[in-house]
Amino acid sequence: STFVGASFGGIAELYAQIQKAIGATERVFELLDESPEKINSVQNAATQKIKGDVTFKNVEFSYPSRKEIKVLKDVNFTAKFGQKIAIVGPSGTGKSTIASLLLRFYNVDSGEILVDGKNIYNFDLEQLRGNMSIVPQDVILFGGTIKENIAYGKPDASEAEILLAAKQANAYNFIESFPEKFETLVGERGIKLSGGQRQRIAIARALLKNPSILILDEATSSLDSESEKLVQEALEILMEGRTSIIIAHRLSTIRSADQILVLDNGTISEQGTHQELITLENGIYKNLSNLQFSNS
Ligand code: ADP
Ligand code: MG
Repeated sequence: STFVGASFGGIAELYAQIQKAIGATERVFELLDESPEKINSVQNAATQKIKGDVTFKNVEFSYPSRKEIKVLKDVNFTAKFGQKIAIVGPSGTGKSTIASLLLRFYNVDSGEILVDGKNIYNFDLEQLRGNMSIVPQDVILFGGTIKENIAYGKPDASEAEILLAAKQANAYNFIESFPEKFETLVGERGIKLSGGQRQRIAIARALLKNPSILILDEATSSLDSESEKLVQEALEILMEGRTSIIIAHRLSTIRSADQILVLDNGTISEQGTHQELITLENGIYKNLSNLQFSNS
């Protein structure tokens, strides 16, 4: 059903597929035909708020379909409530996998993932995901109006709340420029939005949902610079007051992170602030940083 596209993270396979769509050589997954009710149930904001401490403790993981390849090896980190944790590293190194595990799309093979000190497998799944939002690189909207897409995480949102979220997400102006405004149809049968516009809709949706934990998975990496500026501004607002896990290609967006993890072949090889990591002789981050900042 077309509604399956509405799940920003309701089902493992869809998320995996989105991720695979980004990497060219990857296999394509079948969409699960989940009922809208079921998808809604994991999409909606949770009634019970979590604080947002996140800990990975000795996490090891292989995908069920490729047991022979260890994707994550002994991954350890702690993000305290309200912190910004950035994950950088080459493509295929396991960054998105960390996000998938936190969203509980897969089970870890060993080790633990804790949220507020409690193993995520001991949470009610709706409560866990109801407290999380993800803004991926490629946002898929479902067939419906812009308003429905924004209100998705909070179906009882008022008109005023929807407008405010759209404004904070830098989406209001482009929405208002369409003849049907918030009633504009998007998705397969509707108008085609640019990548940056879709992302700002997803940001508005996340603002309404008001999650304790936010995951940005290369959220600005495929945008032109004008669009990137608008999305980046909106993301800064979205990150306020919650724990943010920022997976980034471009280092400029993560300089101010409380902690940067450099993931290399499934292992955290460097960990610290920007200031700390640029002092590491022959450090991966230092080299990446030199490369990127000398080019921009
Ligand atoms: P990154 O986000 O750093 O680019 P990923 O976490 O997407 O890396 O992928 C890490 C490794 O796991 C890659 O080798 C990738 O091919 C593999 N992988 C990712 N998703 C799946 C999946 N659903 N099934 C099997 N292998 C996967
Ligand atoms: Mg990725």
